[in-house]
Amino acid sequence: MTAAESLPWHADAWARLSERVRAETLPHALLLAGLPGLGKRRLATSLAVALLCERRTDSASACGECRSCRLVAQSAHPDFFVVEPEEERKQIRIDQVRALIERLSLRSQYGRYRIGLIAPADRMNTAAANALLKTLEEPPSGAVLLLTAARPARLPATVRSRCQQLALQPPSEPVAQEWLRAQGVSGAQEALGLALGAPLRAIELHQSGAVERWRKMLSTMEQLRAERIGVVAAAAEWRETGAEAIPMLLAICADLARLAAGGTVRYGDPGRLRPLVVGLDLLRLHDYVEQLLEQRRYLDHSLNEQLLLESVFAGWLAAAGKARPTGAQA
Ligand SMILES: [Zn+2]
Repeated sequence: MTAAESLPWHADAWARLSERVRAETLPHALLLAGLPGLGKRRLATSLAVALLCERRTDSASACGECRSCRLVAQSAHPDFFVVEPEEERKQIRIDQVRALIERLSLRSQYGRYRIGLIAPADRMNTAAANALLKTLEEPPSGAVLLLTAARPARLPATVRSRCQQLALQPPSEPVAQEWLRAQGVSGAQEALGLALGAPLRAIELHQSGAVERWRKMLSTMEQLRAERIGVVAAAAEWRETGAEAIPMLLAICADLARLAAGGTVRYGDPGRLRPLVVGLDLLRLHDYVEQLLEQRRYLDHSLNEQLLLESVFAGWLAAAGKARPTGAQA
């Protein structure tokens, strides 16, 4: 398994890591940091496979065929332990970290490394992170800890300072676009923009229809401003995806403010945002962003999503200089 080499934006990081594998100077704790969708876990797994491979090549790549390589591929290697949240959006708990520490302290089954992968490590709760400290400080011999984190700042400084950090950067746009095209992703530019340049995340967003929803939101905003639809109709259209509407509007309005101020956008295709900027008042837009931040807090416990969204879209009309009383009819 040499997945790391197959992602073009991993090439530099992989070159540095494989050099250290060859020289046997790999740190005992490595923190791979970077945006969601850069393949941090994939890179960490490739590193683990290379360390465990029984027939590692001179280039520090795993052979992909030996007993170790096959066992990792089957998630069954006795010296490779993965700790992850048990459910999506959940935290990594202290008992999971304790179990990992215990296994790392045992003898290696195959006489090589014992590797613990914590992914994503920024999901460890405080107790779990604290439980890891001693192992990070005095790792058992032969133990390697690999951590991934999209938001390393969420990890306690005590954990971060005991790991060597390797920050993965998104590839340049041409490299990312070419790679996405090779994966059969159309509309790559918007997906990539929404993913902040992270190609794997761009694929996820593309497959989940996020690009279409983002375009649809721009269209709703345009139609509202042109008074082709009213806030009641717009709210009804977005009610089913209400939880997504406010964060999306926030991202769009933050980008509109950037564009209006002559800056560059963070999400999506700037060409599609530009028509919305025309005639927009920056102060009113900032007021609207404040309003959205406030309304986002009601998202989870809103009793009436229709009313909340009507007020959200009425706010956009006000920001666009077409003030209407909240809840105005279509
Ligand atoms: Zn192998």
